[in-house]
Parts: sequence; C-alpha cells; structure tokens
Amino acid sequence: MFTQAQDNWLILKGYLALIRTAKKRMSEADLPLIRKAFRFADQAHSKQRRLSGEPYIVHPLAVATILADLGMDSETVAAALLHDVVEDTAHSHDTIQSEFGAGINHLVRGVTKISNMKNQRQLSEKKKSRLKEQEAAENIRLMLLATAKDVRVILIKLADKLHNMRTIDHQKHEKVQRIASEVLEIYAPLAGRLGIFRIKGELEDLAFRALQPEEHTRLVGMLASSRKDQEERIETYRRVIQQRLNEHQIKAQVSGRAKHLYSIYHKMKSSEKDINDIYDLRGIRVIVSQITECYAAMGIVHSLWPPVPGRFKDYIATPKTNGYQSLHTSIIAPDGNPVEVQIRTEEMDRNAEHGIAAHWTYKSNINANEKAARLSWIERLASITESRGREYIEDLREDLSFDEVFVFTPRGDVIALPQGSTVLDFAFRIHTEVGLCCKNAIVNDKNVPLHTVLKSGDRIRIITNRHPAASPNWLRYLHSSGARQKLRSFFRRKEEEEQVEKIVEPEKPSAPLLRIRRKKTSNPKEVPIEVAGSRDIPVHYAGCCTPVPGDRIVGFVTRGRGVTVHRTDCAMLPESAPEKKRLLPANWAGLTEKYPVNIEVKAHDRQGLYLDLVSTITATHTNILKAEADIPRHRGGLMKAEFMVEVEHVDHLSDIMESLRRVPGVESVQRMSK
Ligand code: MN
Repeated sequence: MFTQAQDNWLILKGYLALIRTAKKRMSEADLPLIRKAFRFADQAHSKQRRLSGEPYIVHPLAVATILADLGMDSETVAAALLHDVVEDTAHSHDTIQSEFGAGINHLVRGVTKISNMKNQRQLSEKKKSRLKEQEAAENIRLMLLATAKDVRVILIKLADKLHNMRTIDHQKHEKVQRIASEVLEIYAPLAGRLGIFRIKGELEDLAFRALQPEEHTRLVGMLASSRKDQEERIETYRRVIQQRLNEHQIKAQVSGRAKHLYSIYHKMKSSEKDINDIYDLRGIRVIVSQITECYAAMGIVHSLWPPVPGRFKDYIATPKTNGYQSLHTSIIAPDGNPVEVQIRTEEMDRNAEHGIAAHWTYKSNINANEKAARLSWIERLASITESRGREYIEDLREDLSFDEVFVFTPRGDVIALPQGSTVLDFAFRIHTEVGLCCKNAIVNDKNVPLHTVLKSGDRIRIITNRHPAASPNWLRYLHSSGARQKLRSFFRRKEEEEQVEKIVEPEKPSAPLLRIRRKKTSNPKEVPIEVAGSRDIPVHYAGCCTPVPGDRIVGFVTRGRGVTVHRTDCAMLPESAPEKKRLLPANWAGLTEKYPVNIEVKAHDRQGLYLDLVSTITATHTNILKAEADIPRHRGGLMKAEFMVEVEHVDHLSDIMESLRRVPGVESVQRMSK
C-alpha cells in the first residue's frame, strides 16, 4: 500500500502527463472541461485502488492520455476520465448527464458494462460461467451499437483495453487468460479494421505475452541474437537509400523498422519457419512530403536493387478499405535476401498509425458519406441478433477477418460490401426484389456480367426485369452469405408452390434420392473453378475431354502450364502413382452442393483391406467425412466398415459403390438410410 504522499505524487504525475499531451494537441479553451472531468473522477474514485495498489484514478488518467495523444477532442478525453465512474462508484448516468451533458454521457454509457451477475450467487459454477460468457458478448454488442452512433465510443474502449493490458500482471491467471484472448480475438482486429495500427500492434504483443509467456520470452531472446546482423545490414541499405534520395533532392526520412513480435510469431507459425529463416524481421520505411515523391522514391529504390516480382503494391492509388495508403515493394538485397520497403507521405504515415482517429480530427479527404459507409460494418456487427454468447463472438471474429470494398449507387450513395462481392451481391444489398429481378448491370458505364467482382470506387447501375428471373446458378455468383440466404429462401418458396401443384398431378415417377444438378449447356469459362478449395488458381480446360459445368472434374498440375481441368473419367489422366500426386481436387464453384451419404461395406478381412477401401474411395476424388470399422477377431472373418462420404450426385455415388465392389474380398456394398 502506498502512503498518502506517494498517492498524491502518482496522481499528480498522471495528471501532468495528461495536461502536457492535451496541450500539444488542443487549444487552451479545451482544458477547463478536462480539468473538471478529472476533479469529478478523482473525487468519485477516491476510496478505490487498482490491484497494483495504486490509486484508481491513475487508470482513467492513463486512458485519457492515450486518447489525447491520438489527437482526440476534449469531450472524448473527458469521457475517458469518467469512463469507470458509473460502473464502479455510486454515481449514475443522470449525474454525468447533468454535470457534463448528453454527448459525454453517451460516450460513458457506451463503454459501461451492464452486469446482472451480482445476484446469481446461488447458481452452479458451470451455469455462472455460461452466463458470464453471454454477458460479455452482450456487452460487446451494446458497445458496438453505441459506436455506430458515435465512433468515439470504441476509441475509448480500445484505450481502456490498452492500459488494462499494459498493467495486466496484477490480475489472477484465469482472468489474464480471459482478458487477453478477448483482446486477441476481438479488440485487436477491431483496431485493425479502424486502421489504428499503433494500438493494434501493441494490443497483440501484450496479449501474446500474457497468453504465452514462455514463447514470448523465447522469441525475444531469439530475436535479440538474430537481430544484430540483420540490424547492421538494414542500416547499410538505409544509408544507401537516404544518400541516393538526397542526391535527387528528395527530402525524405528513411528508417529501419522492426516488425511487431506477434506478427513475427504469427509468420513463424503459419509458414512453419524458424526465426533465422525469416528475413524480413526488419524493413525500411521512407517518408516523403509529396505523393509524386513516393513514386519517384520507389523508382530510385528499384534502380538500386532489383525488385522482387509480384511484390509491388500501390495502396496509394487503391487504398486499403480501412483507409491505409502506402507503396509497398520488396527488393533483393546484395546478400540475396529480400527486404521490404514502404514508401508514403507524412500524412499517410500518421493515418496509418492513428487510423479512424486521424480522420476524426484532421481535415481528411473523405466526405461524410464515405465516412459513414466506412463505419457501416460496425452497425452490421451490432445488429447480429441471431447468435448469443460464444456464438456471437465467433460470428464477430469471422466478420472481422475479411476486408470491405466501397462502391457507389448511381445517386452517389456509398455501399460497403465484403471484399469479393459481385454485381449480384450489390443488387441484393439494395433490395431483395432488385436482386431477384436483376437482368444485367452497368459498372462504370460498361455492361458487365452479374458475376463481376466489384472494386472500391465502382459505380453500379442495376437493370431489372419486371418479374423475378433468378436462376439457381446465381448461388455461385453470390459472395455474401446474407444474399445467398435470400436467394435460397426464394427457391424454397417456389419449390413449395410447385409441390402443391404436383399433388394435383397424379402418378409421376418418384424423385431420385439425390437431385442431379447438371447443366451441360453453359460455357465453362463462365463458371469459376475451385482447385484445392481456392478460386485464385488459374486453370486451363483440357482439350481431350472438354469438361463442362456439372461434370465431375479434377485438376492436373502440368509442367509449366499451370493447372489443367479434366473430367474425372478422362482417359488421359495419369495412372502411375508418382504422376497421380499431381492431381488436385477441383469443382465448379457454387454449382454443386455436396451431400453426406453413409455407405456400409462387408468384406472378408485380410491384410491391408481397410487401407484398400479407403484409397479406393479417395481415388474417386471423394472426401471421407467419417470412417468406422468392426474388425473381426479372426483373419478371414467378416469385417463391417462404415464410411460417411461427401457425394455430389447419383453418378458420383454409384462410382464410389462400384469401385468398392471391385476391391478383392468385398461381399456387399450398401447405401444406408441414416
Ligand atoms: Mn477502465
């Protein structure tokens, strides 16, 4: 515990740091509000201490300082000082409202957690922890809801999380785990989506240290030993670039920069590489004053060392969806290793650090309309109401993991869509009817097919039919699950209507067990192909068997011509084992739906039988979802095996069953009704 004098000193130190930072960023007229909020919060928290033993007010002071440093306005800084008053003291929102006004009260309310846990002491531990999870998820949703009205809410929350993470050592182990995983799952990605890389990076590093202290320490050690020579070599290149830019009269600030620990850790994990095999622990950043100088500087860098093909990215011409702008390139340094170079203006650099906070305060070149669209995803996240508790957190996490594009309606309204969305997604976003009646589209004055993928800045006009003209094939054009949902329910309704008609018609042959979704007429070029689960792999269509949409297909990795798509029954496909390794699973994206089917096999047991069955199934390019076998006690006895396989249509199923029947020892192969 601290003495009164120590307390006073800690509070004064925090207060002076805040005022010093605030003075740098705002005018003298803003300070009285901050002083008033400080006095109020200091009074309110006067009896409370943090787990570290420090007076509680040290925390709101630190949070307010982080926000003042980001350049936020005095209302935000005042709200940060007051952010725990309602949650942790006897004061109510009414008091905040009458003392500080509705604006500040809204901000405080947005970050105040609502808890019903206090009266739940009689519940079992299990129930309690489930309730806790639900409550945490609900609090995040409410915070996002308040953020949709005022983005400053989330900035206060992020600053709050940042200071809590900086001082997390005083918490109990279990709580550390909970707080740090929430930060890694939700808050760091949120900061990233808002473009606040400074906070995102620090949150990730702190959460990484809290969750995996041993890994963290090991990495810091490894980094220190491998860093030395990397640091030296980066310094050499840095000086060369600086000198060459000076010669060309380009005023620039060239620096070597270390990557965040967590991003290095992530890279090691995902590429299964050792730290010594990662050459871009450090990169070079060039900051200039004009946009034109960015391109000039890049030309100069490329004239010094050869660029790595395919690594150049122009985020100045096409900014990332969170507003990030910069040129990225990698060059091959004289020692043969790649070095990443980022080039941008001072303003772009500040935006990259501060993200949405910069747009909030500085004069920015995006208009209010676009600003609103940039934040529309927050509203969407807040309006997810189907899921609760852990499920909501999972939904959030998934949603945060992809980027967005911003496109325009003919009237100039901005619409935000997930990256990868098509013209048809856009139509469904405007209105379900517009989607269903969509005939064709004009993007930037050009007539384009419905599956055209949209880019930020596209201006789209949808031409509609008078009546719905939707085709089931459209499912594969739709990127967003919401739009697919709408289309599916349209077809379900239609099917139901047709079925009502069918009942009136007598005697029709019974429908096949699996519906055949073959369509042999459409042009293969119009249907995207997924190879090994990815749509990005360029493919050729084999001339020997000319696959058309609906055929069962397989990809073959050629020598030097990429992937060729064949029908699975093509006679030209390789037979030998080493050649077969070059086959990849492929399918027409979105065209076929897969069904799980159970197959039962009875066979006389012998050495290697089970393996034969499995490889026979995989040879038909089929996924096995589940496999089980009853092995008889004596060799030669009857073995019963069950496989759950993923089937595309009837032909496919008979393929699998026929192949299984031909395996030596097999007595019977049956489809099970389950
Ligand atoms: Mn707090």
